[in-house]
Amino acid sequence: MVAFSETQRNRLIELGLKQGVLQMQFSSVGEREAGYQQVEKAAVKENRSKIKQLTEEVYQPKLCSLQHNIEQSLYDQGFAQVTTPTIISRKFLERMSIDGTHPLNEQVFWLDNKTCLRPMLAPNLYEVSKKMMNYSKMPLRLFEIGSCFRKETEGKSHLKEFTMLNLVEWGTPEDERIQRLKELAEAVLKAAQIKEFGFENEDSVIYGRGLDIIGRDGTELASSSMGPHPLDAAWNITCTWVGIGFGLERLLMYREGEEGIHRYSRSITYQDGAVLNIK
Ligand code: ATP
Ligand code: MG
Repeated sequence: MVAFSETQRNRLIELGLKQGVLQMQFSSVGEREAGYQQVEKAAVKENRSKIKQLTEEVYQPKLCSLQHNIEQSLYDQGFAQVTTPTIISRKFLERMSIDGTHPLNEQVFWLDNKTCLRPMLAPNLYEVSKKMMNYSKMPLRLFEIGSCFRKETEGKSHLKEFTMLNLVEWGTPEDERIQRLKELAEAVLKAAQIKEFGFENEDSVIYGRGLDIIGRDGTELASSSMGPHPLDAAWNITCTWVGIGFGLERLLMYREGEEGIHRYSRSITYQDGAVLNIK
């Protein structure tokens, strides 16, 4: 039996075809060539109609509608949204324990000696939370959705630029933290229309022990953490808290059952899951 060649496979992946088709077997090279032509042609047609749809209707990319649905769900649960800068200071990373010797330091995009593109939302959230706590009653519920940047060996589930949702609830009663983390994770995943997921204990290099949210195929959808936590001292925070960070493109890749995350990234090759590079 003959399978698709590497080049054919890559093209079919680019066009969005999934395992069922990619694993097709043929009795001869001739039959495989004919099969490839047929499958490729159909996939090109489908991509064309997706792109046409993007331009003919009022159309919201899935990344935007996902963000919108999650925002609505969090507003309904009493969360306030904040927006903070993408460029952050070295000092803020150091407060997250990310210094020259830390493994994540290698992944940071430095702009100059003092500033970088944020690899996470947590330091800015700590900063605005500490300031807002002075004027708000507890529990204080905040979230941000925005781009984060990490130098990754871009595999199928990592992007250099991705969209993070980070939520935090300050003042969660200590004995309710695990339960609350689960409730909040479930609410976000419901808004994202993701039904199958589980929780797993995780040791993070930054936060220590926490709970990861995992898809049925083992994909990490989110990581959570709770306090009081040793990092809190850098912001003079002493209260209890729970927090979760989700990658929105990761959620889309998982929900849509895609082979790779790039289809839903900020891209000039793809728009909303359709490849623009079609003949
Ligand atoms: P992973 O183990 O998948 O590399 P991580 O544990 O380093 O992720 P966290 O710091 O826990 O990532 O970030 C929270 C969430 O942000 C992850 O659960 C994931 O959904 C998403 N995420 C992290 N890094 C990336 C990336 N490079 N591209 C896309 N999404 C990412
Ligand atoms: Mg993680």
